[in-house]
Amino acid sequence: MLSYRHAFHAGNHADVLKHFVEIELLRYLGQKGTPFWYLDTHAGAGVYALTEGYAARNAEHETGIARLWDRSDLPPTLQPYLETVRALNPDGRLRLYPGSPWCAAHVMDSSNKLRLFELHPTDHQILAENFAEAGRRVQIRREDGFEGIKALLPPPPRRALTLIDPPYEDKRDYQHVVSALKEALKRFATGVYAIWYPRLQRVEARTLPENLKKLPAKNWLHVAVDVATPSTDGFGMHGSGMFILNAPWTLPGVLQETLPWLTAALATDDRARFILETGGDL
Ligand code: SAM
Repeated sequence: MLSYRHAFHAGNHADVLKHFVEIELLRYLGQKGTPFWYLDTHAGAGVYALTEGYAARNAEHETGIARLWDRSDLPPTLQPYLETVRALNPDGRLRLYPGSPWCAAHVMDSSNKLRLFELHPTDHQILAENFAEAGRRVQIRREDGFEGIKALLPPPPRRALTLIDPPYEDKRDYQHVVSALKEALKRFATGVYAIWYPRLQRVEARTLPENLKKLPAKNWLHVAVDVATPSTDGFGMHGSGMFILNAPWTLPGVLQETLPWLTAALATDDRARFILETGGDL
């Protein structure tokens, strides 16, 4: 099912949490000075225009990145994420929003490689155009990312972040995430894996974190930001979460420093809240 187009949601509260955590993970991996790869199973189009086309229709970024754009009191921990979005908007007007592959390419050292999967023909083509100048550092495949990562694990440098960010419009995606991770951990037990998921009333979304906690990783970290009260009709996303397997030891501290401010900035009602929990050796 390929009806989902990320452009409708670009820069919303869920993208803010996802890309902030992604950048933090990549910065940590980059500190060591030894090579690593970035794998993105569901890469999207790479860059999104906020003022025209799909993104302008619902303007979801207005309750996402736009809430942070002009703030002068950002916690220092959010600066690398904001700096990444500013790099795409050098005149200071928020017009473009970076997707996960663009965030990665921006913060990673140019010697480190990106492997991107995107199945939608149009988004695949836009992604390829956005990285046309990148050379062999970036490989883009129009394949199923759940299947495609199998052949790449373990990556040659034996260090990598894998982002798994499916649309979840097909509820089988929840099960695909768990089975893809079981397979990935068998091939590459020490990799860092980051899974994005929507906070919804549906049972598959509510039980996903519990299912991920059972996977055989060294540790796990679960972070979620609910920006609003869950809707009583059971529809609509009231927040989002990121689940990290084999998370760096520095991540809980960075999140503790950031989440109270970030949750208040993204809140759309007075029931906004965050969750931060860890397990294993973290
Ligand atoms: N990761 C992107 C970002 O943060 O900028 C957004 C990705 S969006 C949530 C999910 C993307 O996955 C869509 O562009 C969709 O076309 C694509 N897609 C859906 N099923 C896929 C599959 N099995 N393999 C690869 N891509 C898929």
